[in-house]
Amino acid sequence: MKKLLPIYILIFVLISIEIKAQDSKIKSWDYNINIEFKDTTLYINLHLKAFKTENWTKNFFLFNRYIKIDKALLNNKPLNYIRSNDTLYFEHSNSDKINFFISYKIPCSLYESSKIIKIFGDSIFAYPALLDSNQVFCERYSKFYPVIYDNFTNYKVKITIPKTYEIYVEHKANEKILSKNNIISTYIFFDEDFRFFITKANIFQSEKIVQNKETYCKFYFLPKDKRLLSIKNNTPKYITDLNQIDSLYNVIANRSALAVKWYQTNLWYKNIDTLPFIETGIFGLAVNMRAFIIFDRSLMNMEAIDNYALSHEIGHFWIGYNVKYLSKGFYFLSESINEYINLLFYESWAGNQAYENAIKDKINLRFSNKPFFTVSFEQVLNQKNGDLNFELIYNKGVVFAYKFCKLIGKEKFLKIIRETYQKTDNYITLTDFENSIKKNGCLKEYLQLYEMKL
Ligand SMILES: [Zn+2]
Repeated sequence: MKKLLPIYILIFVLISIEIKAQDSKIKSWDYNINIEFKDTTLYINLHLKAFKTENWTKNFFLFNRYIKIDKALLNNKPLNYIRSNDTLYFEHSNSDKINFFISYKIPCSLYESSKIIKIFGDSIFAYPALLDSNQVFCERYSKFYPVIYDNFTNYKVKITIPKTYEIYVEHKANEKILSKNNIISTYIFFDEDFRFFITKANIFQSEKIVQNKETYCKFYFLPKDKRLLSIKNNTPKYITDLNQIDSLYNVIANRSALAVKWYQTNLWYKNIDTLPFIETGIFGLAVNMRAFIIFDRSLMNMEAIDNYALSHEIGHFWIGYNVKYLSKGFYFLSESINEYINLLFYESWAGNQAYENAIKDKINLRFSNKPFFTVSFEQVLNQKNGDLNFELIYNKGVVFAYKFCKLIGKEKFLKIIRETYQKTDNYITLTDFENSIKKNGCLKEYLQLYEMKL
């Protein structure tokens, strides 16, 4: 169904993202991405200029299979390509210069959302989809942009949104978080992902602030009409009473403030003045955007809070940013370890028995009706982008971290974590983690993980 187009006065937000080439000998590539959000659709024009070097040996991009390409050019001639699943193979040109252009749209309408969820059904996420709250989340991770895995590049991204919308872009902490009307901002990015969140302006009806020492946790909530309180026996329980909704807000805010305090004390001190949480209507979405957290309202219920969903995202302020993209162990280091540390926070307020039970639940998980014990540590480490198995990352990987912690003791475990992740000057890899393990005399215990069948 096509809606009539209201005439929007467009505003321009210019976001320049520079990714420093990790090796200065590699000539970085220039990306120019123009994104226009109009009439519930993202219109994307992507321009890539590169010089062919030994670094570009591949003749394919990863690109979401469900996106229809309107136009694709290589050196101003139509690009010959073949698509297979999420891979787009193209014919190399003989020229040393590569001038690549692709234009396509991503529909995000409320009316088409069921279609979107269906067509992205075997991709990882159902994003971007506009639901009742008029919001869009887009990321490279789901291959909404052509992904080239072997170079770091200069990105210039220009996003145009209607005046009635606001845009939030992932960037380093302590920078301005919100690009409002007519503000031109430059951000620096250190990995290949480029995420942004567009929301209708002025839809957040209540704000809640909790202070914990010097950190202000600020919550931007959507209208209070109805809230999911819990899901018991697969039955959702909704509440509409304003007092009940308020007390749910209180639990969310206080638990989050407690998590910040715990991470500050047990990992290392980080200067966080304000920690904004932005509620969204996009199903299943929970992302730490480096200076703020966006959170799906359906996850803001007691069960999700008790299952440490919010504190997982908070944990990412300490764990997981600086893991080298696409390196071996990436998901173990960025997600499993973060989730395990989150379980240690859980233990601090729910008690040791609750913590052990949570671990037991993970150990006893069944995978495709089979027990999960055949999974090896190596399998967890080898989880790759595009081939994600969430059970391996968020359950088995966590149990391996738990076993390691049990073998060496919590003090040593946290010391190794601090030594590994606290670096700010470089990306960490599995080798950094292992070096820290060796330094602390825990190699023997670490190697036992490779032998374990959990
Ligand atoms: Zn995570």
